[in-house]
Amino acid sequence: MSENTKGVLYLVGTPIGNLGDMSPRGLQVLKDADLVAAEDTRHTLELLNHFDLKKKLVRYDEHTKDAQGDLLMAELQAGKQVALVSDAGLPGIADPGADLAERCIAENIQVIPIPGANAALTALIASGLPTQPFFFGGFLPKSAKNRKEQLQAWNSVPATLILYEAPHRIKEVLKDVLQVLGDRKICLARELTKIHEEFWRGMTSGALEHLQAEENIRGEFVIILAPPEQKEEHYTLDELLQKVQDLIQDGVPKKEALAEIAQKYKVPKRDLYNELIKREK
Ligand code: SAM
Repeated sequence: MSENTKGVLYLVGTPIGNLGDMSPRGLQVLKDADLVAAEDTRHTLELLNHFDLKKKLVRYDEHTKDAQGDLLMAELQAGKQVALVSDAGLPGIADPGADLAERCIAENIQVIPIPGANAALTALIASGLPTQPFFFGGFLPKSAKNRKEQLQAWNSVPATLILYEAPHRIKEVLKDVLQVLGDRKICLARELTKIHEEFWRGMTSGALEHLQAEENIRGEFVIILAPPEQKEEHYTLDELLQKVQDLIQDGVPKKEALAEIAQKYKVPKRDLYNELIKREK
């Protein structure tokens, strides 16, 4: 029997503001890991200090992920337990982590996720908007042109849309959202799990007005947008009569078939009936 000598990559969720959201299992994994890979080692040091943990910290961020990824892969191949954390929430969600998980999977190294807080889902469940299906868009591109193109590509996605945004860009992003997606229902979730947690619910135009009053916008935002309105289907009288006849052929009595189609497509039952009688003569 061959023993697996390879290490394990743990993807550890950390709080998005409230340290009370750090899970006991996550803490145990951090405690037991041979090394902790962090997006910002100073930030993670504060977390570790808060929980009285002393660990070897290694930087792993967007800029260093190739070189540091090689180093971490070597440690994992040598049998080390590596815990990866980001500054907040789940690694790999608008944060580094997905690439390393992919490399581990390709090299047969076990990847174990340790659940924790996540801004997108935390905002979604309290938004008051449909929670499924949803589409996580993350951060939009920084350039206005690319941003509008991206929004246009998502305009007809029939799902609640979740976006992340930094406070200094929130107004310009909402202006583009209004221009490209139209005036949809929206929920702005700010400073989740923190003292000044706030939910603003209404229409995109109202959200913009609400923020116009603030000069120096602070706090982290999740934007939740309702799915696009379903367009009403328009059918000709011929097409509607065909639907009635299809139902009749399936064994539905004529009166009920007429009532069903009239109600479903919001047309007067009498019009359908008169036309059907005329054609039957
Ligand atoms: N990995 C994180 C997660 O699982 O949610 C996301 C990290 S991403 C770099 C940071 C963005 O997440 C912020 O700009 C904001 O859009 C959102 N975010 C993170 N913490 C938040 C909070 N406490 N309240 C609202 N939004 C938050």
